[in-house]
Amino acid sequence: MFRALVVEKGEDGGTQAGVQTLDEGRLPAGDVTVAVEYSTLNYKDGLCMGSGGGLVRSYPHVPGIDFAGTVEASDHECYKVGDKVILTGWRVGEAHWGGFAEKARVKAEWLVPLPEGLTTRQAMAVGTAGLTAMLAIDALEAHGLSPDALHPVLVTGASGGVGSVAVAALAALGYKVAAVTGRPENGDYLRDLGATEIVARDDLSETVNRPLESERWAGCIDAVGGAMLARVLGQLAYGGSAAAVGLAGGSEVPARIIPFLLRGVNLLGIDSVLQPYEARHAAWRRIAAELPMDKLEQMIQTATLDDLPRLGSEILKGRVKGRVLVEIG
Ligand code: NDP
Repeated sequence: MFRALVVEKGEDGGTQAGVQTLDEGRLPAGDVTVAVEYSTLNYKDGLCMGSGGGLVRSYPHVPGIDFAGTVEASDHECYKVGDKVILTGWRVGEAHWGGFAEKARVKAEWLVPLPEGLTTRQAMAVGTAGLTAMLAIDALEAHGLSPDALHPVLVTGASGGVGSVAVAALAALGYKVAAVTGRPENGDYLRDLGATEIVARDDLSETVNRPLESERWAGCIDAVGGAMLARVLGQLAYGGSAAAVGLAGGSEVPARIIPFLLRGVNLLGIDSVLQPYEARHAAWRRIAAELPMDKLEQMIQTATLDDLPRLGSEILKGRVKGRVLVEIG
């Protein structure tokens, strides 16, 4: 038997989430069973604990798009009992039962081994949000971003999960970091993570008539999308790139083509869900080596399975700061 957060669908079409004790026989098919130690709260988890956001395939459902823990049983040659593993992506917690449970069963190819130097707790403090931030940094650097750039790197949605890890990781790598937030009270928090400049959300929310503005940013990690991303494209330095990670502010981008033609800027799409094994593993190794763990600690609030339904609706309202670490095992 194991405890899990289960989302049920009522006859009226509404959903209800609560902790239940389940028999192990109810776990889905898979070749590796993991005793989950930690999970975390992501924006998608908020959706999957509520309406489902079009992501959940069937009910009852166990959400949790990522987890870290210890292999308890394995039918796959790559993993043996006792191995420490991380799971992110592959629609686990959406189409498959996920990590908001003491046990999870998944396909071996969805896992990566816990990299040396990282605990399962730290791995989930980073979580999908932090992995995505690192994938965005990888992509920006592959397109020419380097710490000696004249301008700072902009991070939007900075006090959220992706944003917080992006700010800390960029600062640790030697970049100047400008952090956009709609919550001025988080200014000290973002400066402590390494931001050198705080930009008010309102400064970038307005659409302007000019397709090009003064060059302000060497690059951008954008968790917000919408009008803000369009505005940022017109402020990127010549040849700079914006990594599009999220849509916390909207999925429609009223952008002009001019910055692409006259400044050679790039818009890079970042997906963490279907990243091939090698890229995921490399990003986790880089996180273990380069993300300052003292800064990571500053981002964490801890939660239990019972806290998740409340926190799920908070993250959808943009009210969660940093990373929520869910203590399970
Ligand atoms: P969070 O809710 O933790 O962070 C989002 C942040 O965006 C908020 O904290 C807030 O920051 C800002 N924000 C919220 N609403 C608005 C708004 N209306 N306009 C402008 N800014 C807003 O979420 P995550 O960091 O976990 O995820 C961020 C985005 O990235 C989500 O859209 C998520 O789905 C996506 N994502 C994508 C992944 C991928 O593989 N591409 C993987 C993981 C996440 P502040 O208060 O500081 O302004």
